[in-house]
Formats: sequence, C-alpha cells, structure tokens
Amino acid sequence: MVYNPRIDEITNLIKQQISLYSSSIDVSETGTVIQSGDGIARVFGLENAFMGELIDLPHGVKGIVFSLEEDHVGVILLGDYELIKEGDVAKRTWMISSVPVGESILGRVVNAIGEPVDTGGPIQAEEHYPVERIAPGIIDRTPVTVPLHTGIKAIDAMVPIGRGQRELIIGDRQTGKTSIAIDTIIHQKDKDVICIYVAIGQKRSTVAQIVYDLTNYGAMKYTVVVSATASEPAPMQYLAPFSGCAIGEYFRDKGKHVLIVYDDLSKHASAYRQISLLLRRPPGREAYPGDIFYLHSRLLERSACLHPSKGGGTLTALPIIETQEGDVSAYIPTNVISITDGQIYLESSLFHSGIRPAINPGISVSRVGGSAQTPIMKKIAGTLRVLMAQYRELEVFAQFGSELDESSKAQLERGKRLTKILVQNRFETLPLADEIIIIHAGISGMLDNISVNALPRFEKELIAYIKAENPSLYEYLGSTNKWTNEIQEQLDNLIHKFLSEKWHEGKHL
Ligand code: ATP
Ligand code: MG
Repeated sequence: MVYNPRIDEITNLIKQQISLYSSSIDVSETGTVIQSGDGIARVFGLENAFMGELIDLPHGVKGIVFSLEEDHVGVILLGDYELIKEGDVAKRTWMISSVPVGESILGRVVNAIGEPVDTGGPIQAEEHYPVERIAPGIIDRTPVTVPLHTGIKAIDAMVPIGRGQRELIIGDRQTGKTSIAIDTIIHQKDKDVICIYVAIGQKRSTVAQIVYDLTNYGAMKYTVVVSATASEPAPMQYLAPFSGCAIGEYFRDKGKHVLIVYDDLSKHASAYRQISLLLRRPPGREAYPGDIFYLHSRLLERSACLHPSKGGGTLTALPIIETQEGDVSAYIPTNVISITDGQIYLESSLFHSGIRPAINPGISVSRVGGSAQTPIMKKIAGTLRVLMAQYRELEVFAQFGSELDESSKAQLERGKRLTKILVQNRFETLPLADEIIIIHAGISGMLDNISVNALPRFEKELIAYIKAENPSLYEYLGSTNKWTNEIQEQLDNLIHKFLSEKWHEGKHL
C-alpha cells in the first residue's frame, strides 16, 4: 500500500471536528420538548434560558421563552407549531426575537414575525430590530407640541392629537373605530408621516379590505400592515403589536414621524390571556394574568416625542379598544384608558342616528389638548367641546317636551347645526383651513339661518368661494400663524358676502 500523507491530514481534521462538535453540546443550552400543543410547548432543560429568549426548534419553527418554571420552561411557538412533537430538540440562541426593519418594508403586508404575506416577494431588510425594547427615558423626550392632523373635523377641533401622543379609540363593535384610524392614515399622504397598521385577531377579509382601501387612496406607499388574523395562533397575535412597534421605532430613531394603529388591544389581551392560561399562570381579574397592565404599558410607553438631541423623531399611537355594551369600566378598558393620553369615545346610539364619526364629546378627551393644535384652530375651536357636551344634555332634556325659553331654543338650533357640520363621511378628510372655516362659521352663529340639511352643500360652496376670492387668507388659516382681529374680520366679511350674494338654499329648504 502506498502511504498517502493526505489521509493522515484528513483523519486529523475529522478528529478535530469531532472534538469541537462534542464540546459545543451543553445540556443546559439545549432542551427537549416534553409537551406541545395549542401553540405552546414545555421544554425540559434550557436551565439558563432567559425570559423572551428566541429558541430554535426543528422544521424552522421558532419559539419565545414565556415562563420559567422550576423544572421546565414554557415556550410560545411561532410558525407551524403543529410540526413540533414531544422529544424534539430545542436550542438556545441568546437573542431575543427580532423583525426586519428598513425603508424596503414600506408598502408591505407582513405577519407578526416580519415575513411578507403579500405578493411582493422577499423583503430585503436593512436591519433587524428586537421586538421588545425599553421605552425612551424621560431625558430623551420633549413635550408634545406638533399636531398630527387627522383631517376629521370632530377630532382636530375637539380632541386634537399631537405627534408622540397616545390617543385611545374606544367603543362598542361597529361604531367606526377602524374607519377613524384608516382615514387618519390616508390623510397623512404627502405629510412625511410613516404609518403602521397592526391588525390583531381580525378576519382576513377585513384586513384585505383595509389593504385594498389603503392602496386605492395611495396610502400604501408610506404604510406597513402587520397582520395577525383571528385564524393565526395566539402567540402570533400576542407578538404582532410589538413587531409593529419595532418597525416604527426604526423610523422614529431616524428622526422621522410615525403613526401606529393597534387594532385592537382587546383581542391582544385575550390572546395573552389564552397563552397565559395554557401555560398555567394564575388567572387574576376577568381571568387575565396579573401582568396584563404591564403588557400594554410597556407597549404604549414606546410611543414618544424624542428630544432634538435624539433626532426629534416621534411615534404616535392610536390603540383601539372594543367595549361591551359601552362598558368603559371593565378591566382592559380602564387599564388602557389610564395608560393613554386621552380617549375618543364612540357611541353606538350616535352612530345609528347618523352622527358619524360617533364621538361622544362629553367623555372624549385629549390630555395633550390645545398644545397640539395650531394657534388658529385652538382659538376658534376652544369652546366647541363644551358647547357640544352642553347641547347633548339639553337635547335629552328637550325630549321630555318641556317648554324651553328662547335662549335654550337658540342653543338647541345652533347645537343641531354644529352636530351636522361635524358629521363626516369616510375617505373625505379635509385640509386644516377647510375645517377652520366651517367650524368658525358654525360657532359664531353664521349658520343659524341655514337649514340643517343644506349644510353639507353650504360647506363645500363656502370653502370653494373663500379659496377663490382670497387664496392668501385660505393659506394663512392652514398655517401655524396667529389668529388676529384682522384675520377674523377678513374671514367674517367673506362669509357674510357669500351668504348675501352667492348662497341659494333652493330645493334644499
Ligand atoms: P368592528 O367592531 O367590527 O371592528 P369598527 O368599530 O372598527 O367595527 P368600522 O369597521 O370602522 O367600525 O365601521 C363600521 C361600519 O360603519 C363600516 O361599514 C363603515 O363603512 C361604516 N362607517 C364608519 N365610519 C363612517 C362614517 N364616518 N360615515 C359613514 N359610514 C361609516
Ligand atoms: Mg374595526
């Protein structure tokens, strides 16, 4: 036999590899699945795993450590969890779960782990961001002062939202919650705001319709949809808002302005309750685990208005909560109300009487309030919320058929008109100047002699008239300048002129 020195070399290499391989296996870093089902697994071993750590399982399934017990760890499974069987090997990764982020994700529909679910092919991510991150500290933030204009009259005038604020949209089912959020996203076109819509536990058809609407109105270009539909396992629904937030944080940290909608956190809470009960965590109030408040507060705390030294980016959150029979004092609604900076309360009875958006001005509030309005809007709409709340009360009183004095009657008439001008169709958001013109006309009583049904046409014609007659005034109203007597005079004169010379109520009487 001829001696070949290469054989020796190869043997040595193999020996070396074997020695390396055996030393890399450490029982505390791999474990065995002892039970699997319903999207969760119990894993024996993995003594050193930490909360939230990403775990590698066979068939490309990933898991997240969710509970640390004395003799095993509870893991929630992401992906095809049916493939995981007892006896499978689970490996530590020393990482926490992350999602792809970057410009290339704009316009895409992704699932809770950032995988595309649309037809656009793979996503070339610039970076990965961990789904759980500590919220910006106190020093890194500044007060919210810049408005996030929604284009919805009732919101911009009565419950203004500022960039970096968290404003809750709360109401029973089918009260127009999603529509407000989608209209707001569509209105951000050409406003340099990136939008993220997180759909949690909704029907696939609903999400498809939303993507269709966003595409149709040209809003998909600056929007990301993160979807964990009702048919997806609870762990995906639990993770979706955190992933959406991480995607938003990438832009926020780059100094950009981001709007994120969590639709809705009630379903998120139930998904979390489901996982927790499966992992046998002790149930608390309404069977939710004790840390449900912490779950939502650590999510919503990540919305922020950053200090200029940190880039000055903002992340505005519009969480949505569904109530049962208008009960805002249930566990999850009260939790989220206390974490957010205000709420837009939608009422079924208003919605069904045609007042849409069905905002109840009495208990809706924006705690950032006036500082997130332009000076002109702040000045003209300052009293609107109180006026509307008073009108609603008077209206209930008037239903008893009691005799009213003249001033109450006048108040009722004006209230009716203000209510009508705050009614707004879907997909018909308005520029700031338009909102200011019509609200000013309403509050100052210039609409009192116009019939309620003619108001929508009046609004359109008046705005077109002012735009044509005095474009510089129109521009001024939409700016961040001050409201002066001179401006008021110019505007009032134009409205009076329109009323006397151009307006024909005609067949609308
Ligand atoms: P769900 O509880 O099912 O999520 P939701 O509260 O999100 O419902 P939407 O889906 O936004 O409510 O709206 C319910 C219905 O009301 C939709 O058909 C929508 O088109 C209609 N709607 C919402 N807002 C308006 C509006 N301003 N004008 C007219 N119709 C509206
Ligand atoms: Mg909805």
